[in-house]
Amino acid sequence: MPIPQNDSVRRALIERVRYYNELGIYDFYRREFQVSAPVEQPQESVVTSPAVEREEMPARKIANGTAVRTSVEVLPSYLEQSESDPIAALKIIRDDLGDCTRCKLHQQGRKQIVFGVGNPHAELMFVGEGPGADEDAQGEPFVGRAGQLLNNMIKAMGIRREDVYIANVVKCRPPGNRTPERDECETCSPFLMRQIAAIKPKVIVALGAVAAKNLLAINAPMSELRGRFYDFLPSGVRPESGWQGARLAVTYHPAFLLRDPRQKGEAWKDLQMVMKYLGLKPQPKGEV
Ligand code: SF4
Repeated sequence: MPIPQNDSVRRALIERVRYYNELGIYDFYRREFQVSAPVEQPQESVVTSPAVEREEMPARKIANGTAVRTSVEVLPSYLEQSESDPIAALKIIRDDLGDCTRCKLHQQGRKQIVFGVGNPHAELMFVGEGPGADEDAQGEPFVGRAGQLLNNMIKAMGIRREDVYIANVVKCRPPGNRTPERDECETCSPFLMRQIAAIKPKVIVALGAVAAKNLLAINAPMSELRGRFYDFLPSGVRPESGWQGARLAVTYHPAFLLRDPRQKGEAWKDLQMVMKYLGLKPQPKGEV
């Protein structure tokens, strides 16, 4: 849907959305967005979440000129934002998700929805791409071989898996462990954004290119995405929540590190950047 240029049309659209919200209809999802080609980026880039907006989302400046423009996007009214307790807020989101059939992944062999796991008060959140076979079977993200490596990464940071929160961009297993498709990510990611807004972490680590690109709406290679923090605030977060957003770092997906262990050192550098920000001390051995 193109962004209406005419003020009266835009106001009418906003009023229509509010009217739907009052009727209890909250799920409006983005249909498309365009991302301009990435350009050279400075040490830190400031972006906001790609997920959703109540009203018009203007072009976003990323670095020195890379702009991301989304179509008109509307987020669920964040029913859970009146909840100060993240446990209660996450329950509202899970209840809202229900036995979700919003995208085609619901009919492509999923056993169950993999919502997320961990400490609802976590300062650190990891976001992956989507559940695999083990996760689909157990209903928990990152429990297979890649999950074991993620556990080791977390341990090397001097914390435990129970201290962090772990979720994925899509909550149902793509068949054959294929990469989730764009429409699936766009349909499911608003729930991830709401989880992030409920937990209010200090740092989010995007695991792999799919998670990074969906969270940041930047179409760039991992070599450009890694090595810096991004300011990240899901759209629709109320100012009175007192949360100013998280810092977001990008590193390799553990499944990729299993295929190419030579990159573990690079991943460890990413985690060290996060540890420094959070004041974490590494395990004595200090390696992934
Ligand atoms: S992937 Fe997300 S949007 Fe799609 S059916 Fe599963 S829970 Fe629903």
